[in-house]
This record gives sequence, C-alpha cells and structure tokens, in this order.
Amino acid sequence: MEPEVYFSGIKDRNRTECLRELLKSADSYFSQFTKGSFVGIKMTIGDKKSTGYIKPELVKILVENLKRRGAKPFVFDTNVIYKGQRQNSVDHLNLAYQKGFTPDRLGCPYIIADSVFGTDSHTMKVDFKNIKEIRVPSLVKVMEDLIVLSHITGHIMSGYAASIKNVGMGMASRAGKQVQHSSMKPVINSANCTLCGGCIENCPESAISELSGKAFINSRRCVGCGECIACCKFGAVSIQWHEDENIFAERMAEYATGILSRIKRKVFLNFALDVTEECDCISGNDPKIVEDAGIFASRDILALDKASFDMLTNGKDIFSRDEKLKMHRHQFEYAEKIGLGSLNYKLVKV
Ligand code: SF4
Ligand code: SF4
Repeated sequence: MEPEVYFSGIKDRNRTECLRELLKSADSYFSQFTKGSFVGIKMTIGDKKSTGYIKPELVKILVENLKRRGAKPFVFDTNVIYKGQRQNSVDHLNLAYQKGFTPDRLGCPYIIADSVFGTDSHTMKVDFKNIKEIRVPSLVKVMEDLIVLSHITGHIMSGYAASIKNVGMGMASRAGKQVQHSSMKPVINSANCTLCGGCIENCPESAISELSGKAFINSRRCVGCGECIACCKFGAVSIQWHEDENIFAERMAEYATGILSRIKRKVFLNFALDVTEECDCISGNDPKIVEDAGIFASRDILALDKASFDMLTNGKDIFSRDEKLKMHRHQFEYAEKIGLGSLNYKLVKV
C-alpha cells in the first residue's frame, strides 16, 4: 500500500492555522508519542543571516501538542563542518537564543547533540554500497522517538534539500558529515579568482592558500564541505564534476537509512514556505523561487520528500540549476533501492 503524505495548504490560512490543521488531521502520527517518551525534534535554525528557517512560534505548536500527551519533547541540532556560528555548541546556542529558540518561546529546551566541539561521534555498522559504518552523536544512537522538521530549499551541492538531507547530513556527527562530503572536491578557476582571500579565510581545514597570485586548493586537506563555493562572490570555485558525482547524494541517503533504521517512532514534516535557491546556511533575505505551498507530513521520509518536490516543481525542476546539479533525482531513485522509503505515495489534502 502506498504511504500517506498529508498536505495542509497555506492558501486562505495563516501559518499557524496551516500547522494546526495538519496536526489535527494527522493525529495518528503524533499519538504514538506517549507519556514519558523523550521526543527529539530535529531542525535547523540556519545561519545568522537566514530568515526562512522554521520559526520558534510554529515549533511551539508541535511542542505543546506533544506535552499534552505527556511526552517530553526537546529540539536539537548538530554542529556543522564549515565556519560560522554553528561550528561549536557555545556559538551555536548563542545564535539560537538570538533567533528566539529559547525555552519560553519554544516551550522546551534546545540542545546541540554532538557536544561543545562536535566530537561526540559513535560508529554504527551498516552495509551499503558506499558506506559500511555511520558516525552519529550518542544521542542519535539511543534515540527512540523522532520528529523531523525541514524547511525546503535549494542547495548549492545537492540541488534539493528537505528531510532526507536534514536526517542524513544533519543527524550525523561532524566526522560523519565529512565522510559524506569527501567525494566533492572543488577547484579554483584562476581566470575568475581576484585573490580576495574570502575562501582562504573561511576554509575550516586551511586547505586553501595563495599560489602565483591566485587561490589554490590542496585536495589532500580538503574535506569537501563546500564553504569555499558558497563564499566566493566571483564564481571562481566550482565542483569537480566527474563520473562519481552522484556519490555524495548516495552517501547521504545511506546515512539517512542507517540512522532511521534504528529509531522506533518517527514522523517527518516538510515546510514548503519561503523556498529560496540557497539553503538556510547561505541564504539571507533572498527572494522565493516558488510560491508558498504549505506543510507536508508523513511517516515515510522518501514519500514526503518526493511529494513535496512534485508539488513545488509541477513538472519543471526548479531545483536543477544546470545540467550537472540534478543529483536529487538520482538520490530519490537510489534511496528507494536501498529501502529508505517509497517513491509512490497517496496525497491526503487537509
Ligand atoms: S573567494 Fe574566490 S575570488 Fe576570492 S580568493 Fe577565493 S577563489 Fe579567489
Ligand atoms: S577547500 Fe575543501 S575544506 Fe576548504 S572550504 Fe573548500 S570544500 Fe571546504
């Protein structure tokens, strides 16, 4: 039987009503979180400039719903591998508080799962084509109840970013994130490089230096985080596309499958609101690339991401910026092959 994907449209409703309607209609998803259960709500607050992230007031509606059932919800994220305020838990938490992710506005604590420096990393065995072990924070290893809230955006490396990315990349430890990125090695196009120094300053691995008046990447040091691509304003850094260009997408799907296979109760929500070309790590107050659609929910992460994608793209893939950046479509097919979920779904409009 095809998995259900609930959809609450934003037309004629405000965001609060849209979410409340979804929670009411998909109540059976949330009734599995019972008295005393510690429910981790995975989401990201985005970087300092981002504005499209899911706001604490919306998260609180879900938190209150869970608390009425006697559950003990908490919101969590992990540290990132590129430079910025989310690279360690102290700066990350301070940024979260500045953006309103405080206990009084959320109704529950906000925590960073992988310790102050992102070093909490446990290895778990898996058996996929590219990855034989995944690395996750100890919290993820013992977690039994999970709700994933994802703000849909485009993405500089994966094309389309929604729940699979939020779990596969976002619930991995920093070591796990590096493994997933390791096939993506950017190169400098010297003709465009002005030696502004931006990438040299922002590379977390000090892999970039000056060579003959241009930036140069030492590929042995590079972990493929993509920070240099994001920060170059001159289009001088690009991915070295090669025949393994889909491996990044496959690894992410493998991580998501490995992580979720151990978690007993899980629900995924995609927010198709304020969808921008870049993700919340890069985007500031950028224009939307598509009209707001609403909020989706499912127990099947792949069905959810595919249903959201189908509705937003409506036959025209707005997330493929060029011929190369279409690895999300490969990821859909690969994810179904390895058992992450179903590409077919039944859309239930509420
Ligand atoms: S950010 Fe771009 S222009 Fe500036 S040094 Fe790096 S590659 Fe060159
Ligand atoms: S050179 Fe590699 S490690 Fe450094 S910012 Fe670029 S992708 Fe990240």
